[in-house]
Amino acid sequence: MLGLLCCGRSGSKNKKVTSWKAVFGDVAAGTRAVRGMTAPADGELAGKTVPRRRSGGTLLAANSAHISDFFKTMRLRFEKCLEPALSCSAAAINAHSVQNATAMSLIAQDNHVYELRTRIRDGQPKCDFEKVGRNQASTFPGFCGVHDTELFKPIDTKPISLADREQLFLIAYRSVSRELHTVMEAAMRLQATLQFQIAAGRVPKDQPSVPMIEATQHMLKSWGVWKHRLEHYDKPLLSRRFEEIEHSVFEILNRKPALAASSFFSVDNKPWGKPFSAVALNVIPTSSQSSVVIVSYPKAQSGAARRYVAPVFLRDGEERLAELSCLLIDRAENFFVAPSQLATWNDDKKKEIVARFVKTAFDGQRGERNDGLLLF
Ligand SMILES: [Zn+2]
Repeated sequence: MLGLLCCGRSGSKNKKVTSWKAVFGDVAAGTRAVRGMTAPADGELAGKTVPRRRSGGTLLAANSAHISDFFKTMRLRFEKCLEPALSCSAAAINAHSVQNATAMSLIAQDNHVYELRTRIRDGQPKCDFEKVGRNQASTFPGFCGVHDTELFKPIDTKPISLADREQLFLIAYRSVSRELHTVMEAAMRLQATLQFQIAAGRVPKDQPSVPMIEATQHMLKSWGVWKHRLEHYDKPLLSRRFEEIEHSVFEILNRKPALAASSFFSVDNKPWGKPFSAVALNVIPTSSQSSVVIVSYPKAQSGAARRYVAPVFLRDGEERLAELSCLLIDRAENFFVAPSQLATWNDDKKKEIVARFVKTAFDGQRGERNDGLLLF
């Protein structure tokens, strides 16, 4: 397992979360995946609620007081509301990362969509497209009902306009918040895993071990994402400075919506816990024949962000959609495909998409454009 843990991880922080699903399976996967796990490597975690408390004093002792403060907050707020001030104590509900009522309905068939999901089978992570209910797709327990409604009212109650800076900001905010929730959850689960292994006598309590290093690194990662959201999104949101986040956008017209995506990923290779540049990438169906693509980034990071997505924006037509498809497969984790679209792909294409999705989850590298993997 050591080889897998170290593979491609050191230089790339804030990669798509799926890498943990692939590497850790039951331990670090999202809650929906955990419920479906069979024959996990660490059976004690399977199908159980992972303890939400943590007791890693040894880990925290090595870090600064500032980080330690954050972890205290994280422990207390983890399953609670991640509103900008992090001061809400209400329970989180299953909030949608993609606007359910509008966007998802445009790709759902019989109230279902498809997503790439990783499960542990015969002790090995297996990834494939799986059918998921429209109402379950893309949800994450990251906001309480009041904050979910209030914060996202401008994007949940009126059509998306690419000229509306508040709407574009909130679409990106939802993506970064979902990522924050996911990395916090992963960090907590790795910490719980460490505690389980210490309790079972499999790793020492007070000496470095692979589980301890992984738990620490993922806490640094979640801290980094939290800092990114705080600096670039929370503060501007609270003062309504929506122009602090910039966007590169285009529309896909005269084409049935094929997928919906809400993702957030880094565009540089800073070590975990260090300030990094990142983008939110959203693909939102807007009508039976149109979708919008929105790439959002802090104004101060616009150079790095635009360079990273230039292969998409410098092309047009089918080439642009092929570039976007490969970017989604390589870097996005939270995207949902229309059943009618998936039905047009043969088995070889599906296998190739899955293989590339899994490979890039491990190595974090962006591959060359492959026109055969067009998702749209
Ligand atoms: Zn709240």
